[in-house]
Amino acid sequence: MPIIRVALDVPVATLFDYLASDATTHDIGVRVQVPFGRKIMTGVIMEVLDSSPVTPSKLKSVASLFHDIPPLPLTLLDLFRFCSDYYHHPLGEVVMNSLPSRLRSSKPFIQKPTTPFQFRLTDAGRHADTTSIPVRSIIQHRLLTRLRETGVIKPEEARQISPSAPKVLQKFREMGWIEEVSIHSSIAKSISSPVLNTEQQTAFDAVANDIRKFNVWLLHGITGSGKTEIYLRLITLLLLQGRQTLVLVPEISLTPQLEHIFRSRFPTTLLVCLHSRLSDSERLKGWLQAQKGEAKIVLGTRLAVFAPLPKLGMIIVDEEQDGSFKQQDGLRYSARDVSIFRAKQENVPVILGSATPSLESYYHATNGRYRMLRLSSRAVKKAVLPAVHCIDIRSAKCMDGLSKPLVTALEKVLAQDQQSLVFLNRRGYAPVLLCKSCSWTAKCHRCTSRLVVHLREKQLRCHHCGHQERFPSSCPDCGDQDIVPFGQGTQRVEALLAERFPNARILRIDRDSTRLKNGWEKMLKDIYERRVDILVGTQILAKGHDFPNLSLVGILNSDAALFSTDFRAAERLFAQLMQVAGRAGRADIPGEVLVQTEFPDHPLYYALRRHDYAALAQTLLSERKMAGFPPFVYQALLRAEAPQISTAMNFLTSAAELAGSTTGGVEIFDPVPAQMARLKGLERAHLLVQSGSRKKLQEFLTSWYTRITTLPIRKVRWSLDVDPQEF
Ligand code: ADP
Ligand code: ZN
Ligand code: ZN
Repeated sequence: MPIIRVALDVPVATLFDYLASDATTHDIGVRVQVPFGRKIMTGVIMEVLDSSPVTPSKLKSVASLFHDIPPLPLTLLDLFRFCSDYYHHPLGEVVMNSLPSRLRSSKPFIQKPTTPFQFRLTDAGRHADTTSIPVRSIIQHRLLTRLRETGVIKPEEARQISPSAPKVLQKFREMGWIEEVSIHSSIAKSISSPVLNTEQQTAFDAVANDIRKFNVWLLHGITGSGKTEIYLRLITLLLLQGRQTLVLVPEISLTPQLEHIFRSRFPTTLLVCLHSRLSDSERLKGWLQAQKGEAKIVLGTRLAVFAPLPKLGMIIVDEEQDGSFKQQDGLRYSARDVSIFRAKQENVPVILGSATPSLESYYHATNGRYRMLRLSSRAVKKAVLPAVHCIDIRSAKCMDGLSKPLVTALEKVLAQDQQSLVFLNRRGYAPVLLCKSCSWTAKCHRCTSRLVVHLREKQLRCHHCGHQERFPSSCPDCGDQDIVPFGQGTQRVEALLAERFPNARILRIDRDSTRLKNGWEKMLKDIYERRVDILVGTQILAKGHDFPNLSLVGILNSDAALFSTDFRAAERLFAQLMQVAGRAGRADIPGEVLVQTEFPDHPLYYALRRHDYAALAQTLLSERKMAGFPPFVYQALLRAEAPQISTAMNFLTSAAELAGSTTGGVEIFDPVPAQMARLKGLERAHLLVQSGSRKKLQEFLTSWYTRITTLPIRKVRWSLDVDPQEF
């Protein structure tokens, strides 16, 4: 009897075999119900076999197979296998968590259309030979005539013609004579597209010429250079070929403009959005339209990378450097990296777009693994990049964090009835030891990470490798005794702004205020309609938005990131500041950016003043090379959480011992408490492993993972994080 091997949502790295009397290989990818312990669980058939290593008498029989939707495509199952192998996460969980919740449930799913749609005559239908329809089939003739007159028909109108009309329409659809379109979209008018400038044209041509093969393209274009326009042109090309495009964006609710741009450019194309804020039924509907190949454009956040796309022709990852592409729990995948694997597997191009690419991607584009496309000027003729200036707050007078020159600039902008934005960097950085006269910072001699100050114990600790040492009494470089922990300090800037500018309309934008349903849309409207004078915002601020009336950006307390213990902090800060700076001066108002800093000569601010990403990238890359950080090494973290820190540390120590002698080409560090050592009542610690070879690291992780699972685990939750982004 055939045996099916099923993926189930259970935290063990194995699939489960069941007897299934009439299963064939066509059932691979089908959902099933199987007995598991005392429960019945829903799973997905991954393989169909003739025999199982399990004793036949011990095998249970499958309860039922669901044929409510087509099976998951084989390529998608391969993608799940890749993720499970690469991220060392149970395959069953990978598969089941990718599905909309309705498909994970125990009931078969009954499809019914939920939003208004209508049928539209296709070119094939318009020119179809009516003599092929038997004369007796009056309903067919009537429906076709009606469609040829009006072009479209709604299901309820069809039903008025005859109760059997839905069946006929279904048949027309199968023949390709009609297609389903949303009612809203078919009314909209298509917006015409601008003529591409030379750089855009070159970039477009390069991708278009190789549109049917795998390549990773890095589209490196400054803010406002017209990257979106290139996406739109390439999508047009794919639509003509009847193929689907997957567009991944960091946070969809923050980019309603992008959805709007896509919808107005392709008014008659079915576009679906897939993100975590949809209701279950909305998500399921979009997912099914993608799976049937009807949705030609799928716009989504990281989870959309697992959408079934039978006619996938291209993947776009916009703002590819954004941290939100990496999932921080469960399957800790990077949607950008998974996209690249998926594109390779399906032999289609993937485009990574950014004004400030991640150093990993940039490095690959400069060494030829990826192909670089550059857009170096703003697409709108009059728009120029804003002038960036540093205010040296060691000499400028400051009041609770606001310097005199910034206050003056804000006053001026207010008087001219334009808008300004005050950007606060509020990420909590661990304190480091800094010499303010020569900028020396305490570094770990073992791994060149910055050491973290632990004031109570008067100790410096490396959160990467575990090394510890005592406070020095003076600066080892210049001898100055005034060395202080740096990187803490909260400011009450928002309140101060309100005091200082009592007549200004101030709007605060942060994660909480944008999370409210429609909160962000309302804020945008207020900004556009000039009901706001000063915007105060944190990291969350406005990605990819045009604020036409914004002429001043003030940047406060970003210095802490310059001396962070996180080796990616400088890269992230630069990306963020470029993005924020890019908000100013989009239309015909020239913009100005003022950065308050104690370190105006720092290479990061120097690059920012000159809008010179490449220069900074070179500096950071050579630092990373010297220090042996990514992209020159590949890393993985073994993470552990427990009510007591000692429990987590002991677990990691045992895991490190298991790694023992088998570490060819892989470096294993000591366990350390995590940067954020306590989270939700649990103590967190981790252990870093790294290697110059991705393959060696993977081989090591595979065998190590299996051995870790044999450890006696009490009260510890652990996971492997491959290519970690947060420490
Ligand atoms: P990016 O995504 O690179 O930040 P956008 O694609 O948003 O830039 O383009 C910025 C602005 O320039 C938009 O208003 C867009 O309509 C406009 N634009 C893009 N390409 C052109 C072009 N070739 N000619 C004129 N305007 C353009
Ligand atoms: Zn010094
Ligand atoms: Zn170290």
